[in-house]
Amino acid sequence: MKKRIVKTKEEWKNILNPQEFYILREKGTEPPFSGKYIYNKDKGIYVCAGCKNELFSSEVKFDSGSGWPSFWDVISKASVELKSDHSLGVHRIEVIYSNCGGHLGFVFDDGPKPTGKRYCINSTSLQFQKKK
Ligand SMILES: [Zn+2]
Repeated sequence: MKKRIVKTKEEWKNILNPQEFYILREKGTEPPFSGKYIYNKDKGIYVCAGCKNELFSSEVKFDSGSGWPSFWDVISKASVELKSDHSLGVHRIEVIYSNCGGHLGFVFDDGPKPTGKRYCINSTSLQFQKKK
């Protein structure tokens, strides 16, 4: 496993734009239907906007109607940490990228087969690399 990327708040601020910093480092959420990748159907790989490591394949992306890009699986299970969150008075499972500790979104149990998972991810946390 790769060494975890540890940076200070200031260092992240230098790398990320304000919107990316807000979501990845301060656990923000972009408004629904505002993200750039919701309707992206191109083939490729989604990497972390912070550390540029692989997260999701376009093969597992699906249209959930939620307003955020949705995936039913991750490229590597070891690459994400799941954490219980009660911040809005509801129980949700937060998805954190273990490589850099970046906040990605939440995972729900109402996704399609075979996993039944719905990773609901901020477009801002992602960067798309089109397959050549
Ligand atoms: Zn990252």
